[in-house]
Amino acid sequence: MNDWNIQSRAHACQACGGEFADKQRYHTVLSDERSDYIRLDVCEKCWAEQYAEGARDRKGFISCWQGVYEAPPAAPPDPIQRDTAESLLRKLIELNDPQYAAASYILAVMLERKRQLRVKEQFKRDGRRVFVYEQPKTFDLFTIPDPDLQLDQLDEVQSQVAHLLEHGLNPPADAGPDATEPVAAPEPAAEEDAEVPASAAEESSEAGPIPASR
Ligand SMILES: [Zn+2]
Repeated sequence: MNDWNIQSRAHACQACGGEFADKQRYHTVLSDERSDYIRLDVCEKCWAEQYAEGARDRKGFISCWQGVYEAPPAAPPDPIQRDTAESLLRKLIELNDPQYAAASYILAVMLERKRQLRVKEQFKRDGRRVFVYEQPKTFDLFTIPDPDLQLDQLDEVQSQVAHLLEHGLNPPADAGPDATEPVAAPEPAAEEDAEVPASAAEESSEAGPIPASR
C-alpha cells in the first residue's frame, strides 16, 4: 500500500475531459483502488449523470466533496521559499521512506496550524488513522498516515524535522560527488519554519487534527 500520496487537482473533468473554467463547481471522489488512493475530479454534469447516485457504495469509496475551481494565476507569486515546510513535505512524501513517516506527519501538523494545509478527511485503514490534507491554494491532496507517535519519540522527531528544515533533505550517499560536499548554508526563510511546535505532535497523538466539517 502506498500510504503517502499527493494528488493534484485536475484542470479538466476526468470523465468527459471538459476543461474547468474559473469559478466552476466540480466534485471530487476519493477512493482506494488496488492499494492506491485515487482522486477523481469531475464536472457537475458528469457527477449528476454518472457518479452522484451510488457514489458512496462504489468499491473503495473513502469520501467525496464539492469544490470551486479557480484558474491558476499566470505566474505564481513568490514561487520560492514561502512554503519551505510544504516543499519539504512534498519531497518526503515522494521519497516514501518509512524513516520519514513521523517527520512527514509532524510537518503536516505544522502546516495545518499555519493554515497552509487543512484536514479534509480522516479514515482508518488497517487499524491506523489516515489523514487527508488539502492545500487551500492548489487544492492538492496529501494523504498521510498517523504514525502513532509516543511521547518519548517526540524529541527525536522534532529535531529531525528542525534539521531537515534547516539543512534540507540530504541526497542519498550514492547520488554522486555532490553528495559529499558540505551542506549549503541555511536559507533565511528556513529559520522561521524551524520552530517545531512542541505541543503539536503531543496533542495530535491524542486527539488528532479536527476533521473539516462536510
Ligand atoms: Zn465532465
